[in-house]
Amino acid sequence: MKNLILLGPPGAGKGTQARNLCEAFGFVQLSTGDMLREAKKDQSELGKKVANIMARGELVTDEIVIGLIEKKLTNEENSKGFIFDGFPRTLAQADALRDLLETIGQKLDHVVELYVDDEKLVQRIIGRFTCSSCGELYHKTTKPPKNPSICDICGSKDTFNYRQDDNEDSLKIRLLAYYRDTSPLIGYYHAHNKLRKVNGLGSVDEIQSKIRNILS
Ligand code: AMP
Repeated sequence: MKNLILLGPPGAGKGTQARNLCEAFGFVQLSTGDMLREAKKDQSELGKKVANIMARGELVTDEIVIGLIEKKLTNEENSKGFIFDGFPRTLAQADALRDLLETIGQKLDHVVELYVDDEKLVQRIIGRFTCSSCGELYHKTTKPPKNPSICDICGSKDTFNYRQDDNEDSLKIRLLAYYRDTSPLIGYYHAHNKLRKVNGLGSVDEIQSKIRNILS
């Protein structure tokens, strides 16, 4: 059993790599961004509370995301391991994760930092979209679907979805939040001897194979 954090700025490829690792090895992906977007879609109290914060590109409170992760870690049947995608994002979240894993008798194995320069991140984010039916990720220039309204993978029609916060204004704030609140985790996990760095530029398969080498 392996527990892994994918750390990196928005657009570094954490979601794509997490999905592929889960498909190949049966890990469970825990993406706080996905959980919060679900809450927004369901119009739950939590969803309403976080909608504006997310649209602006700011971080929601530690209390909220730690609560979401705690619920998953204590309820999820899982024998292969967890991939944390977009969590932790602050030092307080990192401490909480360590304690939660300890409570369920587990530990963190690796933290993979995917690093990509800002210019590339902007190119990747502006123009990306997903199929809301199967979750496949696309990009209008680098990975367009064969038919502009049909998903290549599941065949659904008109299910493409652009994230509300994938615009230049929100992205500036999301990058600022990354460098201010999340990048200190690089030092934190280095000090705990968990950090492995992977260049996030390259094909999805190349990066996937570098991460698999770390896991093996
Ligand atoms: P993501 O999909 O990981 O880029 O997350 C989208 C948005 O959800 C972020 O810009 C934050 O507003 C919020 N969010 C997701 N994960 C966290 C987290 N661990 N801590 C605080 N806010 C988060």
